[in-house]
Amino acid sequence: MNAEIVAVGTELLLGQITDTHSATMARILAECGIGCRHRQTVGDNLDRIVEVLRQALSRADVVVCIGGLGPTADDLTRDAIALALDDSLETVPEVEERLRRWFASRNYTWVESNARQAQKPTCAELIPNPNGTAPGLVARKNGKTLFALPGPRGEFDPMAYDAVKPILETLGGGVVIHSRVLRITGIGESAVEERIKHLMESENPTVAPYAQPSEVHLRLTARAVDLSSAEALLDPVEAAIRAELGSAVYGLNKTTLEEAVINLLIERGETVSTAESMTGGGLGSRLTMVCGASSAYLGGVVTYTAAAKASLLEGVTGALAEHGPVSAETAAAMSESVRSRLSSTYSVAITGNAGPTSDVGGKPVGLVYIAISSPAGTSIEECKFRGIREDIRARAEQTALRLLREKLL
Ligand code: ATP
Ligand code: MG
Repeated sequence: MNAEIVAVGTELLLGQITDTHSATMARILAECGIGCRHRQTVGDNLDRIVEVLRQALSRADVVVCIGGLGPTADDLTRDAIALALDDSLETVPEVEERLRRWFASRNYTWVESNARQAQKPTCAELIPNPNGTAPGLVARKNGKTLFALPGPRGEFDPMAYDAVKPILETLGGGVVIHSRVLRITGIGESAVEERIKHLMESENPTVAPYAQPSEVHLRLTARAVDLSSAEALLDPVEAAIRAELGSAVYGLNKTTLEEAVINLLIERGETVSTAESMTGGGLGSRLTMVCGASSAYLGGVVTYTAAAKASLLEGVTGALAEHGPVSAETAAAMSESVRSRLSSTYSVAITGNAGPTSDVGGKPVGLVYIAISSPAGTSIEECKFRGIREDIRARAEQTALRLLREKLL
């Protein structure tokens, strides 16, 4: 059983929107044990959509179309599917009725083109869309199954997971491919690989490392008859990796490093504050993205210029005058000052030169000082990051979170 995804939309070809739905659908197909061999993107042009669909139907068992189901003239997916399947379109009166009521109940003006959304190829069934006006489609013909889903995220995601995935699971014939991601910080990719080499030889589950900015992700993938059997294959491998890498494994699947840090702080009833220069509040922003952060993150200051540092942070003037803004001493003073000002258990300060020009007191681009203060005192890390301004800022935030977590552990 193999599949092909067809994303429809000229705005995708122009790069104005990113095709995230194809990636979502690819993951769903994998979870259902269906291999995805091709993905195509095509603009809002009837002939070209038909051509692409015919090609997809000629080589795949399952074709999933995304977008172009709306009412406007550039929404051509429905028409193209009918042509590609040598079928014709028919109107489903109940759906047209429902659309008319939907418009009336909101006092929207009814335009005739809306009725197009009540059409379907005769061989297709409609997939209800509780979150929008355009229903999805599933057509079965000549042993092939073709789906069409609407483009807006609030409609696509629920339809993909709640309606399409169960059908794909059945088509996949009772094989699930299930992945778990272990997130690792503080050890580089090759060192991780070296330490778990013996586990990477396994074929089911497979273990594959992915280098991410300042962290490594290990994807464990199992193939089994159902989800719980897949989980049972993954459990011992996860345990073996944790035994090998210890506390470097900070989270599972979508857990972010800031989430891991906030959760640790909450567990202990401890708090943190921040003083940021070059990251401009980025660290505070990441911490406050975590829900429940207010129990652990008290707040912070963004002191970008030397004057702001001197005026908002008590006791940094000496370090600034003597060692400059990009220095271990200034980082330490910033951290200690914000910790005492906000009475937090811990504090983090970041100061450095994010580039691109080397104009911060002659300090090289990428030189960053990160200070962590705790009841036991202040420790400072001198970092030399490579990359563009954006990378350096992101690495500084990531390293600050890692150092704080290490301090907490
Ligand atoms: P509508 O009824 O809104 O016209 P539609 O089914 O016709 O829905 P499109 O017109 O193709 O869908 O896209 C509507 C919006 O959905 C796009 O502007 C975009 O925000 C989002 N979208 C469409 N396709 C994708 C995709 N492949 N990945 C991510 N977002 C998408
Ligand atoms: Mg549209």
